[in-house]
Amino acid sequence: MVPGLAVGGMCSECWAKVVRRARRIAQWVAVGTTLPLALYMTLSLPADRTSRLVAVLAVLIWYTLTSLIARRVALEWLK
Ligand SMILES: [Zn+2]
Repeated sequence: MVPGLAVGGMCSECWAKVVRRARRIAQWVAVGTTLPLALYMTLSLPADRTSRLVAVLAVLIWYTLTSLIARRVALEWLK
């Protein structure tokens, strides 16, 4: 056993690099899909308080989910 060897024969340093890259890619994917959604919701929903709250919540949930999923997928690609 080589010390420091982690997932799939990758050392912990390389793994950390891959994780960082995956996180950055995921952030871009999340922002890139969340912005059009936010714009669409702003244009399509009426400007009352409840609709705005719903829109903000939907956008937050969307951002969280897409970044989580994109991070997973990016990790699979990069490793
Ligand atoms: Zn390495």
